[in-house]
Amino acid sequence: MNANPDHASEYSHGHRWHGGRLLKTQEDRVDEMLELIWTLREKGAANLESLLEQTTDPEARTVLKQMAQEGLCTLEGDGLRLNEKGEALAEGIIRRHRLTERLLMELFELSEAEAEAEACKLEHLLSPAVTDSVCSFLGHPPVCPHGKPIPQGPCCKKLTREVHPLIRPLSDLPLGQEGKVVFISTKVKNRLEPLSSLGIVPGTVLQLKQRRPAYVIQLGELSVALDEQIVLEIFVKAV
Ligand SMILES: [Zn+2]
Ligand SMILES: [Zn+2]
Repeated sequence: MNANPDHASEYSHGHRWHGGRLLKTQEDRVDEMLELIWTLREKGAANLESLLEQTTDPEARTVLKQMAQEGLCTLEGDGLRLNEKGEALAEGIIRRHRLTERLLMELFELSEAEAEAEACKLEHLLSPAVTDSVCSFLGHPPVCPHGKPIPQGPCCKKLTREVHPLIRPLSDLPLGQEGKVVFISTKVKNRLEPLSSLGIVPGTVLQLKQRRPAYVIQLGELSVALDEQIVLEIFVKAV
């Protein structure tokens, strides 16, 4: 446990407020460690040395040892690996964090840095059910505002639209309504280039003019016909 909860330097990442004080629980510390291992792995640096360099927890080694004993991760020399249980927990934490970032940016137009800082505090508030509702509300975004992948949840596979979504495929935008492109979700890389050469990138404001016989969008002075597949991959927020 934290020996000195009043100390200003304890204000950092992902802690909970308890009666106006910031106390780090063991669970928070494990969560932070799991999150850090995950992000280091994304950079191809899931090892003890990088972790000790990046962590703000002075007792990181002890926390890691406890985690290894609980079967969350495996420490082999300098190598750090998440076990199945740790992997599932980390995936949930990363998912909540990145969805929270997106939510804060889309709803309150916070900057990336502000969204990141607030997400560290708010991610703990999301239960699994609320997380999936937030995900549906945001149109099941594939990446966070920093472009890092958001692990999918059960909702993404079903593409639930029960929650009236803030962000939805361009195909669902009412005709004549202006929409701002939030993200383009395509697995086909060479599809992005023609779109960006038309000026369709995140931030672009456009309108849907017609659906049949073909999708036509209005982009400033320009009318452009787009394939249905592409219209389904452009996600917009009504403005
Ligand atoms: Zn992010
Ligand atoms: Zn989802």
